[in-house]
Amino acid sequence: MARKDFTVQFGSLKEGLHEFRYQLTDEFFALIEQDLIQKGKVNVHLHLERSERHIVCDFILSGWVTKNCDVCLNELQYPVESVQHLHVKITDKEIEAESDLISVDSNAYEIDLTNHLYDYVALSLPMKLECKDAINREECDENVLEMLTTEKDETDNSNHPEWQKLKEIFKN
Ligand SMILES: [Zn+2]
Repeated sequence: MARKDFTVQFGSLKEGLHEFRYQLTDEFFALIEQDLIQKGKVNVHLHLERSERHIVCDFILSGWVTKNCDVCLNELQYPVESVQHLHVKITDKEIEAESDLISVDSNAYEIDLTNHLYDYVALSLPMKLECKDAINREECDENVLEMLTTEKDETDNSNHPEWQKLKEIFKN
C-alpha cells in the first residue's frame, strides 16, 4: 500500500460524476508520519464531480479505529462516521487554501488524498476518548481507576513518610 493508492488521477477523468472507494487500514495509517492512530478499518466512499475548472469531492467515512481510553487506558474500537467535502480549484492563480478548499495548477493531473483522509479520520474522534465512546460502550475499568486514584494519593505530601515523621515530632 502506498500513497498512490489514495491518489485520484483526475487528468484522465471525463467531466461528470465519478465514484471511488478506499479502505483505510493499519497500512494506511503507517503511511503518515504520526502516532495518533495506528490501527483501524475505515471505508471511504468518494463522490467526485469533475468539471473544467473544478473538482468537487464528497467523502463518506464509516468504520473504526483502535485507541486507548484516555481515562483507564483500555484499548477499544472507536467509531468513525463522517461526511466531508473538498473543493479543488484548477487554477494557476494563487489562492488561499482552507480546510475544504485547495487548488492545483493547470498542469496537474492527480491529487494525493492521503493526508486529507487521515485528517478526516482524526477529526472525527472526540478530543477526549473514554470507554463509553467506544463501539461496544463500556465503563472504564474499575480496577485501573482505583489504581490511578491510589497513585495520586501517594504523591500527596501529607502521606509522605517523611511528613508523617515530622507530624510525629510535632505531636511530641
Ligand atoms: Zn476507560
